[in-house]
This record gives sequence, structure tokens and C-alpha cells, in this order.
Amino acid sequence: MKLNVAIVGRPNVGKSTLFNRLVGKKLALVDDRPGVTRDRRENEAKLGDLLINIIDTAGLEVAEEDALETRMRLQTEEAISMADVIFFMIDARTGLTPMDEYFANMVRKSGKTTILLANKAEGKAADGGFYEAFSLGLGEPIAVSAEHGIGMADLYEVLVKHEEELIAANGGVDPHEEALLSADEGPAVDVAIEGEIEDEAENILPYDPSKPLRVAIVGRPNAGKSTLINQLIGEDRLLTGPEAGITRDSISVNWEFNDRKFKLFDTAGMRKKARVQEKLEKLSVSDALRSIQFAEVVVVTLDVTKPFEKQDLQIADLVAREGRAIVIALNKWDLIENHQEKLAEMREKANRLLPQMRGVPLIPISGLTGKNLPRLMQNILDIYDVWNIRISTSRLNRWLNNVVGHHPPPGAGGRRIKIRYATQIKARPPTVAVFCSRPDALPDSYTRYLLNDFRDHFKVPAVPVRMLMRKGD
Ligand code: GDP
Ligand code: GDP
Repeated sequence: MKLNVAIVGRPNVGKSTLFNRLVGKKLALVDDRPGVTRDRRENEAKLGDLLINIIDTAGLEVAEEDALETRMRLQTEEAISMADVIFFMIDARTGLTPMDEYFANMVRKSGKTTILLANKAEGKAADGGFYEAFSLGLGEPIAVSAEHGIGMADLYEVLVKHEEELIAANGGVDPHEEALLSADEGPAVDVAIEGEIEDEAENILPYDPSKPLRVAIVGRPNAGKSTLINQLIGEDRLLTGPEAGITRDSISVNWEFNDRKFKLFDTAGMRKKARVQEKLEKLSVSDALRSIQFAEVVVVTLDVTKPFEKQDLQIADLVAREGRAIVIALNKWDLIENHQEKLAEMREKANRLLPQMRGVPLIPISGLTGKNLPRLMQNILDIYDVWNIRISTSRLNRWLNNVVGHHPPPGAGGRRIKIRYATQIKARPPTVAVFCSRPDALPDSYTRYLLNDFRDHFKVPAVPVRMLMRKGD
């Protein structure tokens, strides 16, 4: 059994874009034979290590305008009937339309497990549509950007949970295990996986500590990622020759440290062995993005003899924008002589060049000798906890009263802006909505003031924190 997932929604919300992203470009191209008219595209795809069968209801070529609605309804109904899980997609930029309601109705009637996706969520313009999506009665939306690959890890998480429920309902037969077994002969897809077969079926709780913590090791070529991973897992598992590097875009490895389970994602480490040098610069950033999407904590590996170069900063910024927890490993520390001085210099650079991740842990390590790796692991665990933090609304509002009282927002157009209350709407990363009378008039500097104070007060350094200003009376 493999999960059948249908992407459903009105035209233009981004269904094909998501389909292509999950299936991988190569396959989409193969499937896009000219002259072939299909009502439905179907393909094997992977999300992290989940193998799914994905059904796209777009790509329909219509001859006559008036036939559109009927055919769309028919193909959508068919896709829904085939699906174990439905991705119901809306365009968060345009907000809800009657057509969305129409399709949502069909989905609701089917009674199938549905995951609501608010697409095109890569900027502020999508905030309104995201909140509107709640009103469809299909549960909490997940903000995604099919085009930019944002939100894929959230999607993965929810899908894993549904899969586990389906396994339970399926008399304990594990589609995941079967999927991993057949993954070897699978086609080259966007995110392929190679790793041990494991049974995650019993980990149903979202923050179960026995569930592997997903870590990505990213960094520039030659920063020492492969060396570090080999040292961590204690085997020469990654460097299995150039051939392996060509066929896999990404790999994951399971291992344990102090009784905690980890799943490591690595991309560039292997691939670079098979690539020509001049392509590396560009590749490593997109490679990084791919593994970041599936990680909870990301280790940005710097070569401390050449730290904080442009590409390092780009990668770190990606991690923050994706909302992942971040630890910076100062690798090749064995080559450094004046430790104190170097560390101070690194801290100063980090503060100056990466202000968006104030207080990010900087851990001197040597992947080569293994020095300080236990400390790196401990920092990964610590930052993971911070990333998962949940603050009660009462604590949050005590803080808000205090901080606003201390330094009220400026007036705009002769009227005071009133800050009313705050509530944490999400963790991973911590996301706080602050309700105020006129969010549009509130200067960014004031939001930054709140954000920085929030970080200090609740001890939330380094992880990205989203603070959303909302209209509320
Ligand atoms: P479909 O009809 O639902 O399959 O939609 P498509 O996948 O063809 O996408 C419709 C349009 O939305 C295209 O122009 C895409 O480039 C665009 N689009 C898809 N995903 C995103 C996204 O995440 N952000 C933005 N801004 N545009 C997107
Ligand atoms: P990747 O491209 O990031 O996977 O980097 P590699 O792991 O292949 O390492 C690049 C080079 O740096 C290799 O020559 C490694 O031996 C060297 N290297 C990696 N880690 C360390 C370290 O901690 N100390 C020293 N001195 N060299 C290292």
C-alpha cells in the first residue's frame, strides 16, 4: 500500500506547480508528452522519506469553454475517490472565491482525510488568505509556496501523522516500510532517500521525543560536511563513490546519540563528488534548500579558516527564512591557534552579518578529529526545544502589557495606535500574533522592538520568531 494523494482545487491555485515539485522535474517532463491529452496526471513522488502516489487534477486541455466546469468536476470527483488523502489547495494571495467553496464542498462531502494548503504564501500578501482559509471548515491551513518550496516540512509532518492513522486503520500494515523497500528501484525524483528501514508507526504524538529529530548539515563545498557526518555516524557511509552521488539528490541516515534518535539529511556532501567545479557555487545553495525543507534543526557548517563568506550568509539566511532552528558549527577548529580571540571575532561577525539570528549558537568543532561533537549535539537538542516553545496567552500578555507600557507605540496621524493583546498561534518556529488597532500604521521598528524584547524575555535566541501584526479591537 502506498498513500494516494490527490491535489484538488480550482484552476490557478498552483496544483501543477506542487505536483512538479514533488514529482521532480525529470518525471514531469517525461510525463508531459506533447499531444497527450489527459484529465489527470499521476506519478510517484517523495516528500522527505515518504513515498506517495500523487494525482494532479490540473493539466486539463479543454476544447470548448462550456465543457470546462463539467469535466473539471468529473475529474476532481474521480481523483477524490482514488485518494487516501486530499491536498486541498487555495491561493492565499487572492483569498477565497466561490469556486474554492464549491470544490471545498466536494471534498468535505467525500469525508476523506484532507490537508488544507494555503499556497503562494511566500510573503505578507498571503496573510489575509491564510486566515480566510480557516472558514472552509477543513481544519488548520498549512502555509506553503509550491513555487519556492516553502512549508514542505510542515506538510511532511502532517502527512506522516495521517499516514500513521491510516496504518492503524489498515490493521497495522505499514505503507511506509513498503515504500522504503521499493525506493531503491524508484526513479530519480526530487528528494530521494537512502537509509535504514525503520518503524515510525508508533510515534503518533507530534513532539514525541522518541521520534527522530531531523537534522540537516549544510554549508559551502569543502566546509567539511561529509567529514562531519562520517565522524558523527562513525562509518564511511556517505563516500561510496561518484556513481552513488549522481543518482541520489539527497540521502538520510538514522543514528542515535545519548539515547536520542536522529535522522540526518545531507545533499551536497555526496553530490559534489560527481560535479564539475564551476557548477558548485550555484548548486550548493539549492541543495541546501532541499535538505533544509525536511529538517527541524539545521547545522550550518563553516570552514573557520574562511568563515562568513557570501555563500555562507546566503545559506544561513535561507535557513532563517524557512523558519528552521539553526546552529553554526565552526569547523576545522583544529587549525586555529588563538582560540579565545578567534571565537570573539566569530561572535562579532555573526552579530553583524546575521542580525536576524541574534544569539545563534557558535560551536567550535573539528569534524576531522571529532572534537566537541557532543557539545554540538547538545546544542542541537537545546535549540530544538526552544524552537518548540509554547508560551501561554496569559504569560504572553503580561509581557506585552509591560513592554508596551514601557515604550508605547508612536502616534500616527494624530491618533495613538492601541496594542490590544497577543497570542502564540504556532510553534516550530514560534509565531505570535499581536492584535492592534491599526497594524498598517505601526512602524517596522516597533515590531522589531517587540520581537527583540520577546526574545530576551522568553529566552528564545537564535531560532526564527515570527511576529505578525493583526487588526483587532
Ligand atoms: P493549477 O492550475 O492549480 O495547476 O496552477 P499552476 O500550478 O499552473 O499555477 C498557477 C500559477 O500560479 C502559475 O503562474 C504559477 O507559477 C503560480 N504559482 C504556483 N505556485 C506559486 C507560489 O507558491 N507562489 C506564487 N507567487 N505563485 C505560484
Ligand atoms: P564537504 O564538501 O563540505 O562535504 O567537505 P569535506 O568533508 O569533503 O571536506 C573538505 C576538506 O576539508 C577535506 O579535505 C577534509 O579532509 C577537510 N576537513 C574537513 N573537516 C575538517 C576539520 O575539522 N579539520 C581539518 N583540518 N580539515 C577538515
